[in-house]
Amino acid sequence: MPHSFFGGVFPATRKESTRRKPLNPLSVSPEELVIPLLMCADGPSLPLVRPGDRVLRGQPVAQWEETGGAAAHSGISGRVTALEDRPHPWGGSSPAIIIRNDGQDTPWDGRPEPLTLREANLTSLMERVQGAGIVGMGGAAYPTWKKLDQAAGRVDTLIINAAECEPYVTADHRLLLERAKYIIQGGELLARCLGASHVVLVTEGDKLNAVESLERRLRRNKLVRLCTVRTRYPLGAEKQIVQTVTGREVPPGGSPLDVKCVVFNVATVYAIQDAFFRGHPLTHRAVTVTGGAVTRPRNLWVPIGTPWRVLLEACGGLREEAELMVTGGPMMGVALPSLDAPVLKSTNSLVCLTSPERKSEGAGSVCIRCGKCVDRCPMHLAPTFIRQALKANDLAALAKLHPEDCNACGCCSFICPAQIPLVETVTLAKNTLREGGAAQ
Ligand code: SF4
Ligand code: SF4
Repeated sequence: MPHSFFGGVFPATRKESTRRKPLNPLSVSPEELVIPLLMCADGPSLPLVRPGDRVLRGQPVAQWEETGGAAAHSGISGRVTALEDRPHPWGGSSPAIIIRNDGQDTPWDGRPEPLTLREANLTSLMERVQGAGIVGMGGAAYPTWKKLDQAAGRVDTLIINAAECEPYVTADHRLLLERAKYIIQGGELLARCLGASHVVLVTEGDKLNAVESLERRLRRNKLVRLCTVRTRYPLGAEKQIVQTVTGREVPPGGSPLDVKCVVFNVATVYAIQDAFFRGHPLTHRAVTVTGGAVTRPRNLWVPIGTPWRVLLEACGGLREEAELMVTGGPMMGVALPSLDAPVLKSTNSLVCLTSPERKSEGAGSVCIRCGKCVDRCPMHLAPTFIRQALKANDLAALAKLHPEDCNACGCCSFICPAQIPLVETVTLAKNTLREGGAAQ
């Protein structure tokens, strides 16, 4: 029986246009890949190739360094044409490896041998995951081998996060439906290497076809169980999913490890088992291209580094002007600075919203003191009071309101009838406190 978490909201899911669309490859392989050196929350990677080098599909093109980063591999065969700044989905531009496709799709033969469950231990798993360049694919982009290292021996419950509570996005739903067997194998592998005694696969009840198929598969499985939860945003946030599954509350400023849990996104689990059991590096991922402005919304299985422009063209382009294009979902995602920016390991979607779809930001609206933002904040914050303290530049009051605990879920902005951009305000408050008032 699932537990519950405080707050949260019920945005319209708007997943109808893609939930029945299978993960398809592009009918024409992209002409070029743009592989940014910055794809990991831990910092940039070190390039292993130079302009003029020939690369094959699956070949490493960048490596992690002691200071951070993660390995990156080419999802096509071709030639490196440049190492130059290109638009980055996180904003601005950043150095990227540009690979021109030769159309041959020649595989690299240096791929590591597949391993079996008998060979599974923390060392073999960490080595394989590090070599495959796997990072948190639900958006965090934290190096997965580091997360494994931190979690080993400290957890009793491993949670596979397939909640996908962001409106519009269905890439994880399709992965769960189409590759369930591998995701379950990945959960078993992780539990064995980390010493977890339970694996809980969490999804929302709106993914009915996936739920039915998983229930059949897991009927006799004693290690992995399915937890189906009523749709509520932000179920997929780490602290909320831990509380929902176990009833344990992650302390402020803490992590799920503090309550003996670790959470992996479902796409990350798929990538981990693919690297371990088949020796595949992380070169492709599932993405959803959708929104009212898109001609034919689809789910696609694409090489990482494919420019979003190519994916939008594969969906028939825009049928009307997009007021906002956002990667990662409309609640927590970021506005895409340019369609020339590429798909990253951690980006699951491009949502192109029409003007009526996008709630206007209502700058200057007046707070009517309804208290809804306080009632709905899953982190027990008081966004309206944070806004007041920020406006008054009262740093002492601000510190007592703990804006640093905000996970940027966006529930407060969503629920506010005055359409005040509260999530931006709380983020500004967080930065203001960190910089001793300078961000104001
Ligand atoms: S204050 Fe932060 S955690 Fe709370 S609802 Fe707003 S965005 Fe979410
Ligand atoms: S939800 Fe909006 S209007 Fe209501 S108290 Fe919060 S800031 Fe004010």
